[in-house]
Amino acid sequence: MTVERKGERKRSHRVSFFALLLRNRLAIFGLMVLSIIVVLCLLAPLLPVTDPDKTDLAIRLQKPFTENHWLGTDHLGRDIWSRILWGTRVSLVVGISASLFAAIIGSLIGILAGYFGGRADNLMMRGIDMLMAFPYILLALAIVAVLGPGLMNALYAIAIVNIPFFARNVRGIAVTLKRREFIDAAQLSGKNNLQILFTEVLPNVLPVIVITLSTTIGWMILETAGLSFLGLGAQPPQADLGSMLGEGRKLIITAPHVSTIPGIMIFLIVMSINLLGDGIRDTLDPRLKAGALLRPASRTQTELPDQESIAGNDQGILNVNSLKTEFHTGSRIFKAVNSVDFQLYTGECLGVVGESGSGKSVTALSLLGLVASPPGKIVSGSVVFEDSDLLRISDRQLRTLRGGRISYIFQDPLVTLHPLYSVGEQLAEAILCHRFMSHHSAWKEAINLLDMVRIPNAPVRAKNYPFQLSGGMRQRVSIAMALANDPDILIADEPTTALDVTVQAEVLRLLRELIRGKDMSLIFITHDFGVIGQLCDRVVVMYAGKVVEQGSVVDVLTAPHHPYTRKLIECVPQLGNPDKKLVEIPGLPPAMDNLPDGCAFAPRCDLVQDQCRGDEIVLETLESGRKVRCRRVMEVVAR
Ligand code: ADP
Ligand code: MG
Repeated sequence: MTVERKGERKRSHRVSFFALLLRNRLAIFGLMVLSIIVVLCLLAPLLPVTDPDKTDLAIRLQKPFTENHWLGTDHLGRDIWSRILWGTRVSLVVGISASLFAAIIGSLIGILAGYFGGRADNLMMRGIDMLMAFPYILLALAIVAVLGPGLMNALYAIAIVNIPFFARNVRGIAVTLKRREFIDAAQLSGKNNLQILFTEVLPNVLPVIVITLSTTIGWMILETAGLSFLGLGAQPPQADLGSMLGEGRKLIITAPHVSTIPGIMIFLIVMSINLLGDGIRDTLDPRLKAGALLRPASRTQTELPDQESIAGNDQGILNVNSLKTEFHTGSRIFKAVNSVDFQLYTGECLGVVGESGSGKSVTALSLLGLVASPPGKIVSGSVVFEDSDLLRISDRQLRTLRGGRISYIFQDPLVTLHPLYSVGEQLAEAILCHRFMSHHSAWKEAINLLDMVRIPNAPVRAKNYPFQLSGGMRQRVSIAMALANDPDILIADEPTTALDVTVQAEVLRLLRELIRGKDMSLIFITHDFGVIGQLCDRVVVMYAGKVVEQGSVVDVLTAPHHPYTRKLIECVPQLGNPDKKLVEIPGLPPAMDNLPDGCAFAPRCDLVQDQCRGDEIVLETLESGRKVRCRRVMEVVAR
């Protein structure tokens, strides 16, 4: 069973690579042209063509489309069609061999230099620098001058001058890889350096090598042709594209076809390889894998029906009505947020809780159109903030709200803070984005903000880079950044999950105090009911992209009405109650692209009955004001 699954996944992965490549029309065009050329060259010995070197001065300089010579003949009466086929063969073999040679030697130097560092790195990279100090074509000429003209020597020269490109690219990646945790883990497992290089580092740099190769191969074919053109590569009578071009040069007026035909062939080969290479590069880039070949949009794509604009309940500062966000990948549709409604009131803290994957982050990101598109798409609903619907306002209006009146704190500040700017600089930038003031006053304001989130010695700390701060401090910086423009609404997406328990408690206390003092509204996302209890006034419980329960925290904690909420609360350890049994929820959340009919929690629920399956279950408002999406709510309450 597992083996089958693995096989399936592998196949679908491979399909997706080609499917992505197939979507790039230019790459496919390149692939087709290149395939035709390669097939023709491979078949050259079998095709009914004359000997490429057979001279016949009686028929010299025949025009194309003459009898027996459809591409004409050259100044020695040799058949150009035959010479093109054989010449392209030579050019391709030399160009590709030189590229592979450069790729292998260059990557080896890059990996070794990057991984071992120190003196080895210094020695190898200074050697590479020396190669790079000369214009490469001059260097290639010098190398051929030393080795003597000839195809093989041209191949070596081209390969040598291209080694630095591979060495530099690969070294850059290897340097960053060697500090990664999986390399430490491999060392701990007892692997030696050679094993680590081949099993851990190489697979990670391979895509870079392939990408560099695919984009330089065309260029190397061109350089080989260049050397032959100058008479330093293929020697007469052997044909290659460069030497044919060189021979035809003198006849450009009297018999232009002799040089234009190899010229066109060089153009076709280089163009098709470059188009294909660009396509492969785009497809191999992991960021593009999920999102087809489109650039990520600055705002989530929307596909909203017109009529349902501003509707529903709108007494809060933020009113979310039947919000639906989907991910469209290939033929699969993941309904990550499936008709979510909630209100956020001024000055309150609203908790959003649910297991990992229940759609909390996507809900939060959808509010300001921050879900990556593609593959994300908002397909219905409205998000009303002060009479305007955030899903329907202009990009400009949205930009002024983002980070201004509505701001975010993300889970992992090491990822969201820029590694190359000091934190003070980043805070100042956040301020200057929304307010008109001098850089000097923005910097002062940044220090005040750091003070406010209780970072000791703020003027000095402001000059620190994110990596110089501890996890708790970084999260404080993100909080400061979110508060920089006095927002009305703060959205915090699991801001304490990456922190240890004591730091988490401090950050929560800080958040609570800041909100009380500033009359701000907070949406606080977490998977931990314990945190909700400490911080929030009301809570929204999410499961499989839907709100399943909503009410005040005190009420929900004392009497959860949805079986899922009950289970979530049972998972939380309680201080002073060591005997409390912590029960885990059996089973797994459903696949978002294949949700069951009726209640999505039914397969894991111990109260499930036939009525829970089948048609859609609505979010009902009970007399107490609590909202619950469950047909068996009365039985849960009675328990
Ligand atoms: P959480 O509640 O843990 O924050 P998310 O909101 O991040 O969960 O994710 C909700 C669902 O959306 C998950 O099932 C996740 O697999 C899916 N999802 C998120 N991003 C993508 C994406 N780019 N492509 C496909 N599915 C996604
Ligand atoms: Mg999340």
